[in-house]
Amino acid sequence: MKTIEIPHTQNSKNKVLLIYTGGTLGMGYASQSKNLVPFDFSQILDNIPELQNLACSLQVRAFDNPIDSSNVNKNIWIKIAQEILDNYQEFDGFVVLHGTDTMAFSASALSFLLRGINKPVIFTGAQLPIGAIRNDARRNLVTSIEIASTKNLQGKAKVPEIAIFFNEVLLRGNRAKKMESSHFDAFKSENYPPLARVGIQVQYFTNEILPYQSSFLPNMLLEMNENVGVLKLFPSISKNIVETILNAENTEAVVLETYGSGNAPTEKWFVQSLEKAIKNNLHVYNISQCIGGQVQQGRYATSQQLQDIGVISGKDITWEAGITKLMYLLGQNLTHSQVRELLSVSLAGEITEEN
Ligand code: ASP
Repeated sequence: MKTIEIPHTQNSKNKVLLIYTGGTLGMGYASQSKNLVPFDFSQILDNIPELQNLACSLQVRAFDNPIDSSNVNKNIWIKIAQEILDNYQEFDGFVVLHGTDTMAFSASALSFLLRGINKPVIFTGAQLPIGAIRNDARRNLVTSIEIASTKNLQGKAKVPEIAIFFNEVLLRGNRAKKMESSHFDAFKSENYPPLARVGIQVQYFTNEILPYQSSFLPNMLLEMNENVGVLKLFPSISKNIVETILNAENTEAVVLETYGSGNAPTEKWFVQSLEKAIKNNLHVYNISQCIGGQVQQGRYATSQQLQDIGVISGKDITWEAGITKLMYLLGQNLTHSQVRELLSVSLAGEITEEN
C-alpha cells in the first residue's frame, strides 16, 4: 500500500484514514477496451479537490493495484483489518473505499475480525465513477468521511462499528446487502434498521448503534478459513448434487440456503445425507433464501427434521454475514462445539438476539 498525504486547510483535531481498495468509485474506461477498470487514487483527488477543505484531516492508504471487488478474498480482508489495527491509535475513524459488488461480504468479514471495535469503519463506494459528470461517488465519499470523524458530546465515536454508507443511509455492515445494480440506493438491510439517515443533516439513530466499548482488545488471530460451501435448494435438486456439495474435499461447513422460514424437503435421502454429513463433523448453517424474516426451525414440519439432526439455525443473519462468520470462526482455533455455539449467537450485531 502507498500513503498519500492530503494537504488540509482546516485546523481540526479529528483524523480519518481512508483506505482505497478500488471499485467503480475510482474507475475509468481503459483506453484499449470499453471496460471499466480501477484507476490510481490520484485521479480521485483531481476530481474532489474539496477533500482538502474537510473539517477533519485525512490521510490515504491506497492499494498498489486497486481491485474490482469481485476479486476480493480473505487475504484482502485480513490486509484491511491489519491496516486499521496498525493505525488504530493515530486515527479517530476509518473509511474503506470498496467496490459495491462484494462490499457486504467485506464489511461483514471486518465486523468479525475487528469485533469489539470502538471507532467507526465506514465502507463506501459508488454506482458511477467519480469522473462521471452525474455521479453518486462524491457524495458517498464526503459523507462517509464526515460520519467517520463524528464524535458525541463526550468525545467518543458516534458510530463505533463497521458500517456501510450508501446513498442516504448508514447501515450496519453485517446486516447490509447489495440489492440494486442500476439505481443509487444499492444497499438495503431488511432485518435491521438504519444507523443513520442522511438528508440536509445526518440523523443518527443512537439506539440502533452498537454501544461504545471503553477498551478494544483486538482478536489475536487475524485468520479466516475458506473451506466453506453452499447448498442452495431448489425444487427437484438431485441427490448427486446434494451429496457432491456435502462431501466435497476439505469442506468444514456448508450454508444450507433454505426456503421461507428455514424449510427444506422432507425426502428421506435428503435428510439422511445431511444427517450423515453432520455426524462426520460438517457444520450445516441454515440461512433462508428470503431477504427478510428469519429461520425458525420447527415452525413447519418441513424444518423440524433439520432441527432434529443438528442443523444450526442462522436466524435472521444475511447470507454475506453467514458465509464470513463461518470463515471467521473456522479460522479461530476453536473446538467443533465452540463453533456450533457461536454460530447461534450474535458476535457483532449480525443476529437479532431474542429477549
Ligand atoms: N464491479 C464493481 C466492484 O465491485 C462494482 C462497483 O464498484 O460498484 O468493484
